[in-house]
Amino acid sequence: MEITQADHELIKHAEQTITRHFSPKHHRLATCIATKSGQIITGINVEGSFGCNDVCAEQITLGNVLSHGVKDIACMVTVKHPKAEDPNQSLRVVSPCGKCRELILDYAPEAWVIIKNGSTLIKVHAKDLLPYRYSKA
Ligand SMILES: [Zn+2]
Repeated sequence: MEITQADHELIKHAEQTITRHFSPKHHRLATCIATKSGQIITGINVEGSFGCNDVCAEQITLGNVLSHGVKDIACMVTVKHPKAEDPNQSLRVVSPCGKCRELILDYAPEAWVIIKNGSTLIKVHAKDLLPYRYSKA
């Protein structure tokens, strides 16, 4: 699915969020979730001293959404800020990691997720990001 003007605005919002909160050792990613009712809720990743303590921006944002009682998740995007030593200093849209894909699927399988396919931005349903997922059953 091609992205819309509203999707571009959501990306811009994520870019502004991580630009505002960027910290090389603590926060390099921002996720923005748009609801069907037009709210935009943001979150940033949290990196600890040990990698195993890191929490993804998608998890923080999803928790933020749920703690506000919001359930009508329409679309989401995550943007990564480059490290100072990265040759490409552009902000870029990134795909959710596998753990986040599982979590998004638990709460919003029909939500759109904006990702990059090569050099093209597209959006796919969360359920299509993780076929044949793990099941407790
Ligand atoms: Zn993740």
